[in-house]
Amino acid sequence: MYKFLPSRTSFFVVSNQIGNKVIRPATFTLIGRRFYVATPTDKEFDTIVIGGGPGGYVAAIKAAQLGLKTACIEKRGTLGGTCLNIGCIPSKALLNNSHIYHQTKHELKERGIDVSDVKLNLGAMMKAKEKAVAGLTRGVEGLFKKNKVTYVKGHGKLVGLNEIEVNGLDGNKTTLKAKNIIIATGSEPTPFKGLEVDEKQIVTSTGALSLEKVPEKMLVIGGGIIGLELGSVWHRLGADVTVVEYLGSIGAGMDGESAKSFLRLLQKQGLKFKLNTKVVDASKKNDIVYVNVESAKGGDKETLEADVVLVSIGRRPYTENLGLENVGIEVDERGRIKIDSQFHTSQPHIFCIGDVTYGAMLAHKAEEEGIAAVEYIKSGYGHVNYDAIPSVIYTHPEVAWCGKTEEVVKESKKPYRVGTFPFAANSRARTNDDSEGFVKIISDSETDQVLGVHIIGPNAGEMIGEAVLAMEYGASSEDIARTCHAHPTLSEALKEAG
Ligand SMILES: Cc1cc2nc3c(=O)[nH]c(=O)nc-3n(C[C@H](O)[C@H](O)[C@H](O)COP(=O)(O)OP(=O)(O)OC[C@H]3O[C@@H](n4cnc5c(N)ncnc54)[C@H](O)[C@@H]3O)c2cc1C
Repeated sequence: MYKFLPSRTSFFVVSNQIGNKVIRPATFTLIGRRFYVATPTDKEFDTIVIGGGPGGYVAAIKAAQLGLKTACIEKRGTLGGTCLNIGCIPSKALLNNSHIYHQTKHELKERGIDVSDVKLNLGAMMKAKEKAVAGLTRGVEGLFKKNKVTYVKGHGKLVGLNEIEVNGLDGNKTTLKAKNIIIATGSEPTPFKGLEVDEKQIVTSTGALSLEKVPEKMLVIGGGIIGLELGSVWHRLGADVTVVEYLGSIGAGMDGESAKSFLRLLQKQGLKFKLNTKVVDASKKNDIVYVNVESAKGGDKETLEADVVLVSIGRRPYTENLGLENVGIEVDERGRIKIDSQFHTSQPHIFCIGDVTYGAMLAHKAEEEGIAAVEYIKSGYGHVNYDAIPSVIYTHPEVAWCGKTEEVVKESKKPYRVGTFPFAANSRARTNDDSEGFVKIISDSETDQVLGVHIIGPNAGEMIGEAVLAMEYGASSEDIARTCHAHPTLSEALKEAG
């Protein structure tokens, strides 16, 4: 298609095809009897994504696959965002290897395997973690090359409605232009007033993933997913771990029955908990951190000592020096970028996804939103089913859930039914001598549609996939019960609960 600009000697080819060959959009200028061709510069894009985490890099790859000329700006120096660099991947590497260490040291004998002189080599364990991280972040860079996404290393700042200024990691400044922009700048640990993080003794999750020695005593502030996972890692490696939680339960909003059962399991493993307890302040002296706590309701005060304190009270959206004010993009009272149901910010051509906006701070949720936002850009249609997004705590046993908790269903006043099945009655779990936990299915008692599935048990994080699929297809609990499951497998517990 040719678009003539009659008053000038230039015309712009919006798209053109000669035989099977597609010519890229370009400006043709007629000077005298000759045509001069100027293709769009390497600074102009259909879509630019700011942030190369799981939301951003997935969005960038999808956009390129759908034929959009795409760039992704990332300031960290490596792709993969929080998840690959300082989140999901390094924490899972440490969880996996600390579990193997703990099991080898404390359980193998009973299983008929004699090993002696089991020693922890923390340096090697950290190297294994770094190898996993490096392999995966490089893998994303490879995917960018394969899909022709331009990877721009630097800090991106919105300076105009279609303009992003990049402060390059190489020290150069440049301005890029885009028809559509996707903000995917993620999140950062929420600071705790009065506790100054040094990432050595008072650490966030980032410091807790790289401690140089196993602490004797570790205090974890916050009994959410990250605190429980990293508390478990260091407990397995030998630390005396106490978790202080302001609320009366752990697991940040998980099903009440599951949370109680999970608490008992962790206590049995040796983790200590102080629930309904508020941290007031802390001070450091001679390599010890003294943390003053009191009952959440006021009253009883106590000073706890630790050589490492992990502050894990949550994460907050990250929008530092992003230039939102330059383009009139609004945030809510918690700093989350405001979006509509199709991921538009207050500027319709600037989209926003992942941790920096509403919803659960999870890598797979960010990815789903990344795909959907690109589909909205390309075709005007996209979709994320927020009722079918799983959550997993990768402790041992694992905890996984999808859909509504029993408390939420109860509150809705809808009649419901609950089916539970313990792993103690599952043949594979018994055979593996790993049979703590249960599967719980909550369904609508009139339609039998599954409303929520909650699993505590070995491999719960893998098993929840089946429940998510069932819920995505609007299955009933009878559908799950009538689906043939291989024997002996852990997933038979899901069938039985159905
Ligand atoms: C210890 C830990 C464990 C976790 N474990 C899990 C887990 O097991 N499963 C799970 O689903 N989730 C987990 N999470 C959460 C998960 O990491 C996040 O939900 C996910 O990374 C969010 O993706 P995102 O793309 O929105 O943002 P991020 O991953 O935070 O990526 C944003 C990127 O944007 C870059 N950036 C920011 N501003 C700019 C700018 N102006 N210019 C250029 N670049 C910029 C940042 O450097 C960053 O790399 C964990 C998090 C932590 C901390």
